[in-house]
Amino acid sequence: METKVENAKNILAKVTATRFNKEGQQEILITLDESIIGYQLERYKNGKGELYGEFTLFDNRIITAQQRKKIHAILSDIVKSSGNGKHAYDVESIKEDMKLMFCESKGIDEFSTSELTGDCTVTTASEFITFLLDFCLEYGIPISDPPIEVAEDLKHQLIKCLYERKCAICWKPGMVYPVNTTGAKKVPGRHELMCLCAEHYQEADSMGHKRFADKQHVLGVLMNHEQFIKLKNKR
Ligand SMILES: [Zn+2]
Repeated sequence: METKVENAKNILAKVTATRFNKEGQQEILITLDESIIGYQLERYKNGKGELYGEFTLFDNRIITAQQRKKIHAILSDIVKSSGNGKHAYDVESIKEDMKLMFCESKGIDEFSTSELTGDCTVTTASEFITFLLDFCLEYGIPISDPPIEVAEDLKHQLIKCLYERKCAICWKPGMVYPVNTTGAKKVPGRHELMCLCAEHYQEADSMGHKRFADKQHVLGVLMNHEQFIKLKNKR
């Protein structure tokens, strides 16, 4: 069921306790950074007087060694593709340029990916990696590591591959195919899609979509008809 959000308010909160209720659902106690006064709460209630909220968890740990390695590897791939034999840029200057573009697009302050300064969280690093991978997909920059292993947000990446017409597995030019990776019954108006190159499509077709998806650790992207038309008209 969808509740139309007329008003919304973002409040910073800290989780102070968690427990499971009799139905096995997790309940959490949160401490708000600022209080909501009773009459203000009225504004956020729906027609039935119910109050809903959205809860986002931030990973405030400092960037992991694996994330730093991923960033370095992707930047090296960008450098490799930037010059004809002779590299026009080095990793450090590309990193600064990309960070600037990323921070501007997100409206956030500049950060350092060094673990020593501690101003780059796991969440920021994860978003930066996704930003770099989007850039590579858009500009057709091949990456050395398997794209699915580098992905921090796989669903986002699989959607991006569909729009850029790049194979979900190897990032070579591909086509959008209807797939069935879950074995679920076909529902009219619902599309399960994956972009695949000729080679990977053939593999998926001969071994079966479900087995292929299990082997490659991917899933088809579900779209409604409206999203499907938007995707089809992209090119
Ligand atoms: Zn492929």
